[in-house]
Amino acid sequence: MRFDVTILGSSSATPIYNRNPTAQALNINERFYLIDCGEGTQQQMLRFDIKSSRIDYIFISHLHGDHYLGLVGLLSSLHLNGRKKPITLFGPAHLKEIIDIQFKYSETTLHFDLEFVPINPLQSEVILDNQDVTVETIVLDHRIACTGFLFRQKRRLRKINKERVEALSVPVEYYSTLKRGVDYFATNGEVHPNSELTTAPEEPMAYAYCSDTLYNESYFEKIANVDLLYHEATFAHDMLERANQTHHTTAWQAGEVASLTGAKKLIIGHFSARYKTLNELLDEARSVFPNTELAIEGKTFVIGG
Ligand SMILES: [Zn+2]
Ligand SMILES: [Zn+2]
Repeated sequence: MRFDVTILGSSSATPIYNRNPTAQALNINERFYLIDCGEGTQQQMLRFDIKSSRIDYIFISHLHGDHYLGLVGLLSSLHLNGRKKPITLFGPAHLKEIIDIQFKYSETTLHFDLEFVPINPLQSEVILDNQDVTVETIVLDHRIACTGFLFRQKRRLRKINKERVEALSVPVEYYSTLKRGVDYFATNGEVHPNSELTTAPEEPMAYAYCSDTLYNESYFEKIANVDLLYHEATFAHDMLERANQTHHTTAWQAGEVASLTGAKKLIIGHFSARYKTLNELLDEARSVFPNTELAIEGKTFVIGG
């Protein structure tokens, strides 16, 4: 089952040096989950061949413009392109008002259902639970209410070993029982242990998305031991005072978060316009947590890969 994330935007605040404001597209079993939607996200999706028609869920972390100013444009295009399939949108409660007022004065009635789910910014909650994943919010510490998102794959059923079951002529009706781990009792009285007829599914993986936030241990437990952690790293550590003032994190701190929470891999992003090149930020995070990569736009990271 596919579980990967493509970076669409990596810039904080404003677009600069060919970097776009924050957005990411998660592919989970061939369905797209869009996380944040900064200005320019539609263009980035076209550029990196992410089909906006395949987005089923959108998650907005907070109401700073660099995380959602592309949203109404995207919804508008989906409407103009004749979308009928519903979209579920998760975000701060006031986002609904912002969208409604824009469509009110353009006299637009969307052709598809936009199901809006307001996020409680004070408490972590499971906001989505479908056949592929659960999504929980992560309460972050920013200047305005802000939540991250923790995506956890569901454990899959065991996989049938076709050769073995066919050799034993196991009736097809029995397959779903085998997938759940039950042994096979043949009509001749023989018992075939499940482990001989099936193989274990892949281990479920977890992806945590943390942007924007002050370094704060309060959310560490929630993101413990994830396979891939995206964490903002707006500044280098010599700008710690500025990071604290603006409720952002330094690259060194992002490395610390990954290390202290037992992440397997770290991606840093949300880079300040101060940094034309990003080596300084990468080197700094790697000095604490070696398995760090930059959120380069267009790059796809396999979660657990
Ligand atoms: Zn931001
Ligand atoms: Zn922000």
